Amino acid sequence: MTGDRAQARTQQPEGIAGYVTPYPYLDQLQEKMEERLARKVPIKGRFCGFCYARLRESDTVCPFCASAIETVGTVDEIPQDVLKAYKTKQKTEGLWVHSGAFSGLLLAMALFLLMVVWGPGLLGHPALAFAVLIGGGYVFAQLFGTFLGAQIGYRKGARKRDALWARWLEEHRQS
Ligand SMILES: [Zn+2]
Repeated sequence: MTGDRAQARTQQPEGIAGYVTPYPYLDQLQEKMEERLARKVPIKGRFCGFCYARLRESDTVCPFCASAIETVGTVDEIPQDVLKAYKTKQKTEGLWVHSGAFSGLLLAMALFLLMVVWGPGLLGHPALAFAVLIGGGYVFAQLFGTFLGAQIGYRKGARKRDALWARWLEEHRQS
């Protein structure tokens, strides 16, 4: 596992999506936690005792949450409840993207039927309607899924994740 500069290319969808997380490091960690959830990276390791980011041996300050490692310590595994928060974000966002894309396809199908059944003249030509079905299906799926769905999904998913993290902090940071 390389401590690469992946976080440098982290997108900032929160700007567009109209939600700014109070915990920016959660957004930076999302992708890495998803890799861990998919078991693409080793389960054991050396993780920040505060935010559970994977650390390099040389790290004295966590590159994600900026905690001093000396103060917060390290753990060798990410707690399940913490992983669950990231999973909730991932699932919520995925659901919105997929149902958005599906709505886009339904819309293209409705348009296709409308054109075939009601379309006057050239508009009612099956070839044109078919082109609308295929092209429109793609465009609407992109628009409602990848574009709108992803934004709404980000906002809702990130809120849920952040709430779970806030609760985790409350329960574990009393000392
Ligand atoms: Zn940290």
